[in-house]
Amino acid sequence: MLQQLESLYKEACSAIETASDSDALQAWESKFIGRKGEITSLLRSVGQLPKEERANFGKRANEIKDELTALYTEREELVRQRELAHSLEEGEIDVTLPGRPIPVGGIHPANQTLREIYDIWADMGFQVFRTREVEDDETNFEMLNIPEHHPARDMWDTFHTTTPGVILRTHTSPGQIHAMRHFAPGPIRVILPGMCYRYEQISSRKEIQFNQVEGLAVGTNIRLSDLKGTIAAFARRMLGENQKVRFRGSYFPFTEPSMEVDVECILCGGKGCSVCKYTGWLEIAGCGMVHPTVLRNGGYDPAIHSGFAFGMGPERITMLKHDIKDIRYFWGNDLRFLEQF
Ligand SMILES: [Zn+2]
Repeated sequence: MLQQLESLYKEACSAIETASDSDALQAWESKFIGRKGEITSLLRSVGQLPKEERANFGKRANEIKDELTALYTEREELVRQRELAHSLEEGEIDVTLPGRPIPVGGIHPANQTLREIYDIWADMGFQVFRTREVEDDETNFEMLNIPEHHPARDMWDTFHTTTPGVILRTHTSPGQIHAMRHFAPGPIRVILPGMCYRYEQISSRKEIQFNQVEGLAVGTNIRLSDLKGTIAAFARRMLGENQKVRFRGSYFPFTEPSMEVDVECILCGGKGCSVCKYTGWLEIAGCGMVHPTVLRNGGYDPAIHSGFAFGMGPERITMLKHDIKDIRYFWGNDLRFLEQF
């Protein structure tokens, strides 16, 4: 038995040299000195020996077990360090590698134009006044001098909700009423940007949702010439220093007189092209002097106060600037379109 012990000892000593990772080391441990290991079981069987041999055998067996345990601990530390070094090497960060690009988002072309519009009007003293997209019929139409059954209502095909009298606003003009009631009787210089909704057949030129930027100035001694000068200044800031602007008489129920604003075609320079339909001019806004009825509905006295209002479509201006032929691109969520801006 002593011989068996010694040969096991030799075997264990050489076997541990080949245990190069923690799995192999674990296997070695359970084979020799674990609870069911061969050395351990030999130690346990010491009782089977004749009495006089027991002490000697036990002593040697304990020596061997202690030695192997020490070997094991030593080896374990070595393997641990080796594995740590290896994993550090594998996970090493190479700081000379080029970084992974972070995808950069962009601002939607309509919002780019909106922000440009905000900046220009802000420079002229107009602040942004936000109002609701869900309106009541009264503010969207009646307060703006468009009574029920008035034929002018046909100009705005409307999305109605299931609550009678509650609609999606068809234009930003009801914001004029909200702004006037907020500021009356003080002076007003605001723009009212936001989404509008119309129940329309969608086509390359018409969408059921689109942005508008309404503008409103109310005070004393505000005249048509102020409106023309302000709009012309805006057009030059937006489209270029030498931009030509013209005003054409028009009709809106909430302004009197009313005008359309045309700019010389920015694509052909006035020579005539398919975008301007060979007229040399592009319509960019509607405007006019605030109708006395609207002023009164907003809480102002038309005998004392006057004002002008205008409305423009950022998508339309964007389309003109970039020669975009189809308004449906704006809300189509097609990256091939959006990534161009
Ligand atoms: Zn043109």
